[in-house]
Amino acid sequence: MRGDPWVCIDRSAFGHNLAAARRAAPGCRMLPVIKADAYGHGLERAAQALAAADGFAVARVSEGLRLREVERQKPILVLGGAYDGEELEAAAAAGLELVFHAPEQIELAARRPPSRPLRAWVKTDSGMHRLGLPPERTVAQYRRLAGLSCIHDRPGLLTHLACADDPDDPATERQLAVTGALNGELQAELSIANSAGVLGWPGTHRGWARPGIMLYGVSPFLGGRGPEQDLRPVMTLQSRITAIHEFQTGDAIGYGAVWRCPEPMRVAAAGIGYGDGYPRHAPAGTPVLINGRRAPLVGRVSMDSVTVDLRGRDDVRVGDPVTLWGAGLPAEEIAEAAGTIAYELFCGVTARVRFEETG
Ligand SMILES: *Cc1c(COP(=O)(O)O)cnc(C)c1O
Repeated sequence: MRGDPWVCIDRSAFGHNLAAARRAAPGCRMLPVIKADAYGHGLERAAQALAAADGFAVARVSEGLRLREVERQKPILVLGGAYDGEELEAAAAAGLELVFHAPEQIELAARRPPSRPLRAWVKTDSGMHRLGLPPERTVAQYRRLAGLSCIHDRPGLLTHLACADDPDDPATERQLAVTGALNGELQAELSIANSAGVLGWPGTHRGWARPGIMLYGVSPFLGGRGPEQDLRPVMTLQSRITAIHEFQTGDAIGYGAVWRCPEPMRVAAAGIGYGDGYPRHAPAGTPVLINGRRAPLVGRVSMDSVTVDLRGRDDVRVGDPVTLWGAGLPAEEIAEAAGTIAYELFCGVTARVRFEETG
């Protein structure tokens, strides 16, 4: 038996989730967002499993260059754009499409035009207030960029939604109105929808959609669960029971002795901890799955181990597999228990966790 944790990637779930995105937004071309090593799932394997996509989006030029090694043909959109002449040149040479979200990036292209022309997107800040040109300056900046000889075709117009995860938040309609007004003037190709837009906001179904989290099987909505949207989890994080002990009433479990046995009981250790990316802030009561049934954590999460309440679980033996999240145990639920989001759990899986694939 190996006591170390592993991630199982269900390749067929990627295809299933992409098909769900297409059904939800049939008019859109799909650019799966596979930044940050495909949200921790592995860039190359995600690109391969999502081969039915129309292209891909990543955050950084370095990620786009890495992806271009395995994806020779399709559009690759770099959401953050280029920040110096070297990145600009490398992106153009690799045929990456760059987002221009700041006037400095447009100046850079004017001052240091790359030796090959490239496709561009202009990002307008319709309300997120993170990256993007202010709406009142977008038309002028768009025209300046479109006029540069290093830009081929007309740039697209892109914006990002801040609050689409809440179906009742009026901010999304305001962002759509701002973007729509701008594009009345520019008549550019559009890209608006993230996962929440694809699944919840038909008004965002224009041009190229950029679904991320839904393709990994997670609901983009507050309090939502993937299966409600017919999504299947791609990543299942597992380990094994490494020890089982009998304790007496009042015995303390783990660091800080913060949890005490209320009665004589069995407690298991499982080989997973924050050193693997399991969140240290997961409190007692957070579920794990053993032999298809839930059991709650007790005590603190440590670097290599967690401890589990085995009351009523005479079926559990040393060596049994334990699921921390994924198939049968939504990552959304673990994220909520730990005060974070599934995106962060996925990105946080560390290099000592081995990866396997099925499907
Ligand atoms: C990460 C990101 C997305 C994908 O968002 P999800 O919520 O994962 O669907 C889309 N667009 C931009 C600009 C992003 O940064």
